[in-house]
Amino acid sequence: MKNCITCGSRDIRFLIQRIDQYSYRYCNDCRLVLADPMPSQEELADYYDGFMGGGVDETSSFGFKLQSRKAVAKNFIDWLKKVDSTFKPEGARLADIGGGAGFFSEGFRCLGLKPTLIDIDPQACKFARDSFHNNFETLNADPVEANLPSEFEVVFMNQIIEHYVNPNALIQKAMSWLKPGGFLILTTPNQMSKFFWFSVYFFYNYLRKTSQKKIPLNSFFRFLQIPWICCDPPRHVYSFNPNNIKYLLEKNGLTVVHTLTEMNGFNRFLGKTKYNWTMKSPRNFISIFGNLFELLGSNLIHRLNPKKTWGHHIITLARKP
Ligand SMILES: [Zn+2]
Repeated sequence: MKNCITCGSRDIRFLIQRIDQYSYRYCNDCRLVLADPMPSQEELADYYDGFMGGGVDETSSFGFKLQSRKAVAKNFIDWLKKVDSTFKPEGARLADIGGGAGFFSEGFRCLGLKPTLIDIDPQACKFARDSFHNNFETLNADPVEANLPSEFEVVFMNQIIEHYVNPNALIQKAMSWLKPGGFLILTTPNQMSKFFWFSVYFFYNYLRKTSQKKIPLNSFFRFLQIPWICCDPPRHVYSFNPNNIKYLLEKNGLTVVHTLTEMNGFNRFLGKTKYNWTMKSPRNFISIFGNLFELLGSNLIHRLNPKKTWGHHIITLARKP
């Protein structure tokens, strides 16, 4: 087995076998969880053709999604201004790596930036061009294959790194496109999240992948020891934590400015989680109860965790020296 892609350790161990062709492994030093085997190029090409093409999922309208993405873009730009008072969004070039249907790119454009969306899915790129009237540049390519000049003030990589078989190649791309002093904003699900304790359905779905019918008890205990949150091949092939994200960025020459995690329902950056509170039939009572359990539980956990490392998402801000 090769070395760990983030910390370089050779201590890679077996975690658990799924019901399909995949198993999970983990690094015994930095706790990175990875899929084994990694999906093939053909499998990935099939999987991502039309992945984000529709642009809007059935639970949110175009308008709602655009508004929420604009708010998130503003949160991030306000953060950059705070970190560097000389940062000016007007005219700043931003690479939206794996930007999908373009809602974030449009959000950043509304704040004065000049986004370039780079996405592997041709349908998503078409959706972005049609929906946002070519307001920003769209490049239909695999980001690790794309060549762009070193002219970017910001690289935005929202929930992308966990999809890539070779995250180092993706970070090197970000490095090569950034100007000196440029920012990388990276988000990914947090392996150390304690959110699953309060989200029964979420927890059940993660364990379900390892079982035919009944969930084996050893899956349950293994998940408590080394949760494979988000590792879900061929979609997500890694599960990161705040430490190994830092290793990954620093080994590729970036300087980490800040890393934090946030809990669903208490997000500072990634926007509000949309809960459904409508009571139309007795069945809704169960989902309302589930929502309350999740909100109260995660609130409690958040308060018990002074370092705030248990949130659902990792958010990292790094700079090119
Ligand atoms: Zn490692």
